[in-house]
Amino acid sequence: MPDFRSDTVTQPSVAMKQAMLNAALGDDVFNDDPTTIALQRYAADMLGFEDALFAPSGTQTNLIAMMSHCQRGDEAIVGQQWHTYKWEAGGMAVLGSIQPQPIALQADGSLALQDISDAIKPDDPHFARTRLIVIENTIGGKVLPLRYMQQVAALAKEKKLQCHIDGARLFNAAVALAPQHQLSPTAMAKALCQGYDSVSICLSKGLGAPVGSLLLGSQAFIQRARRVRKMLGGGMRQTGMLTAAGLYALQHNIQRLAEDHHNADTLAKGLQALSSQGCFAGHLQLDLPQTNIVFTDITPALANELLDFLAKHNVKLTSSNYASASGNLTRLRWVCHLDVSAADIATTLDLLSQFAHSRSH
Ligand SMILES: *Cc1c(COP(=O)(O)O)cnc(C)c1O
Repeated sequence: MPDFRSDTVTQPSVAMKQAMLNAALGDDVFNDDPTTIALQRYAADMLGFEDALFAPSGTQTNLIAMMSHCQRGDEAIVGQQWHTYKWEAGGMAVLGSIQPQPIALQADGSLALQDISDAIKPDDPHFARTRLIVIENTIGGKVLPLRYMQQVAALAKEKKLQCHIDGARLFNAAVALAPQHQLSPTAMAKALCQGYDSVSICLSKGLGAPVGSLLLGSQAFIQRARRVRKMLGGGMRQTGMLTAAGLYALQHNIQRLAEDHHNADTLAKGLQALSSQGCFAGHLQLDLPQTNIVFTDITPALANELLDFLAKHNVKLTSSNYASASGNLTRLRWVCHLDVSAADIATTLDLLSQFAHSRSH
């Protein structure tokens, strides 16, 4: 039964494991692991950067990026809901002595350009030195369009700031945007990165590798990043075992993210149809997803019953409670990925329909 908790739960396929077994190995701290060098070269060329660096997690590639761009006492402009600000245990402040300047998100997931401009501090001894703008794409499953990405990069350049993309799910954004720009997903991903000083991408989410993230940037930046990675304990040895999976993921699993987006869309449309039926009527709301993540808001009492019911049928998902203008709500998060099939979506919708009609509210 499907596990919708996250696209991080994806298991390496047999072909991916075979690539791991066959990987040529060296010692990556000596920078002579051939498979890791090959992955870093492949990704840098694909996304239009001079160099790349493999690290154990996206949390670490983001932290390495922030610590390589900023000095102690510098400031990074982030979104209130950015992973780099909210979901990384305050790493930039704790380990980097970098001050985050959070900004509220717009409804589409972006930061207003005016808000970014207004947050940039003048050169005055009262203030931290604003040094970096961080953008997250996708953000909560939403896609920030190419034009917006270009505007932020141009603003950073104009204000002489560095800019970094937390592109944990950049390829989901690229796959979603590619058709309207008549580009391949990889050319689209490269276009989204243009003008940015660095980007981090996750290999271990929808791309299906068991471990790992990449940080991309200029040669000088990656040289600094390599020192920070060592400092943080992220220097590893026979990483070819892991980077073979990453290389396989970049070569085989980008295009297919479109299937996950399609499955998410089917799930959301099914849920939308059910939202007027049985016990869901008046208690369930959702927006159609842009990529692989569906959020549904449901009244807490009903959510508890539904979560019990789904758990009994071994359907896994995550939930969180929040206060909205119309009262307390439970937000369910359904993440589609390589180990959730179209048949899993159909089975889940059947279960949801059974639930809707089996009780009265
Ligand atoms: C998952 C994620 C990361 C990194 O997560 P790790 O679990 O540390 O690999 C970073 N940013 C965003 C937006 C993410 O979704």
